[in-house]
Order: sequence, then structure tokens, then C-alpha cells
Amino acid sequence: MIQLHDKKFEVFITHEEIQFAIKNMTKQIEDDHCDEVPVFVGVLNGAFMVVSDVIKNYDSPCEVSFVKMASYEGTATTNEVKQLIGINQNLEGRTVVILEDIVDTGNTVEELKKMFKAQKVKHCKIATLFFKPEAYTKDIKIDYVGIRIPNKFIVGFGLDYDGLGRNLKDVYQLSE
Ligand code: 5GP
Repeated sequence: MIQLHDKKFEVFITHEEIQFAIKNMTKQIEDDHCDEVPVFVGVLNGAFMVVSDVIKNYDSPCEVSFVKMASYEGTATTNEVKQLIGINQNLEGRTVVILEDIVDTGNTVEELKKMFKAQKVKHCKIATLFFKPEAYTKDIKIDYVGIRIPNKFIVGFGLDYDGLGRNLKDVYQLSE
């Protein structure tokens, strides 16, 4: 059990389980893109650990870039997704694989898909380590999912609670 700010959290998914899920997900991505050089686009802040581990497992040529989006305040989602940092590279005709730490309502991936479509990319795929199917409100296909989780707030492995917890190797859930 750990405490972050005012809340207690308990281990939910171990680092080993996360690594296993990332290896499987990356293998699928690599199998699907063997004849092209994809651009992985990590969604900051939360996805930095996912990006690092995905590309360490990706043995073929690839590029890596980042965008920064924000939709969360504390433990509650806000509907408006803001882009804070964009990509200044020409992505026309490229295959983009969005790398997310977690897809919750889907607002962020919807916004990103729109953004990449406007840049005339060839394909825009979505890969996420965690997916909350019960919270998801969009029709957009999530192409690669590491681990499906119930509609709970989690921290660790890049995910924070008001700034804390990103450094945790395991993933924790709120303890009732
Ligand atoms: P969405 O736009 O899909 O609702 O939410 C995506 C973003 O919300 C994620 O990139 C992440 O930053 C944040 N988020 C969603 N669920 C959780 C959660 O359970 N824990 C934390 N720490 N962040 C979350």
C-alpha cells in the first residue's frame, strides 16, 4: 500500500505483467508494419514509459515523436482535450502509430485522429497499454490494446495522480 497526496493506492498490475503485455502488443504492431517505417507518436506526459519500452522491443526501423495533450484534473476527466505541444514534422503519406498509456473516454485519441487526418497521413493506428472499455464513448477502433481494465483510476508506470506516481514500476489502483 502506498499514499499519494490524500489517497491510498494498492498494487493492481505488476511490472512483469506490463512488460509481457508490451512485448505482445509490440510484436503485433511490428508484424503489421514490416514493409514500412512507422512514426510512433507518444502522448505526453503519461506515455513516456510505454514509448520507451515499446521501441526497445521494436526491432525494425521506426521513428519516434511526441505530442502533449491534457484532459485530466486530479482523478476526474474533463471533456475538453487541449493540445499543448504538437509535431513540427511533415507526416503526409506516413503511417502513424499513436502510443497511449491509457484510453479512457477516447476524447484524446479522437482529437489526435482528427489532427493526423488533417495532416494527410496514410494510416493512423492507435496502440494503448491500458484500455477502459466501460468508459470508452467513441466508435473509433483501438487497433492495439495491452491490457483491458475496469473503469478505475490507476497510477504508476507513467500515470500520475496530481503529479505523483509516474515513477512507480507497478500500476496501482485506488484502495477503498
Ligand atoms: P481520454 O481522453 O481517453 O478520456 O483520457 C486519456 C488520458 O486521460 C490519458 O492519456 C491519461 O493521461 C488520462 N487518464 C485516463 N484514465 C486515467 C487513469 O485511470 N489514471 C490516470 N492517472 N490518468 C488517466
